[in-house]
Amino acid sequence: MLVVGLTGGIGSGKTAASDRFAQLGVPVIDTDLIARELVEPGQPALAEIADAFGMDCLDSQGRLDRSRLRERVFMDDAGRRKLEAILHPRIRAVARNRIAALSAPYCLLVIPLLAETGMMDLVNRVLVVDAPEVEQIRRVMTRDQIEDVQAQRILAAQARRDQRLAIADDILENSGDLAELELPLAELHRHYLRLAANGSL
Ligand code: ATP
Repeated sequence: MLVVGLTGGIGSGKTAASDRFAQLGVPVIDTDLIARELVEPGQPALAEIADAFGMDCLDSQGRLDRSRLRERVFMDDAGRRKLEAILHPRIRAVARNRIAALSAPYCLLVIPLLAETGMMDLVNRVLVVDAPEVEQIRRVMTRDQIEDVQAQRILAAQARRDQRLAIADDILENSGDLAELELPLAELHRHYLRLAANGSL
């Protein structure tokens, strides 16, 4: 099956785009959701994270305190690598299993940090949802009720826009309003169906 990796910076519109593909009947697998499932209470990855980062990464109910862990690894490369070593092999395994269970011409695998994580081997093509940085910041500030500096900080920790665009096979421009996504997205859908029908991965 043709696997299209969908990526983009924070607030670029990945969810807006993948929701629309899903409405068109395309199976969507989201690695962020897989990552959340993997750290549910009782999961081995959660125990490994608690071992590696301490029990204060858990809240009083024994659930992962995601914002505390995020703060913890934000400026700590070794910590981030440790966390990735716990999560990434598991995310890959779950994603591969879910893809193998699908029967559809193509599917979307949403990997927000595709340019950063080297999960390129999971996908046949890369679709980058792209928006100007000022627009990303504006959307994230509105959605998450955060300050400009906080949004800037998150953006600065991600791959730069040009690094993401360098790995793109296709680009979905999301700089206008949501209605403007419709036509280019429908065109991409037809494109992927054609590629899948031709067996061109
Ligand atoms: P994240 O990386 O944080 O998960 P994302 O790339 O999935 O973000 P979305 O959640 O789709 O981005 O969009 C971020 C916010 O901006 C949402 O509140 C969404 O409704 C809004 N948004 C997305 N695209 C547009 C647009 N073209 N016009 C106006 N608002 C938009």
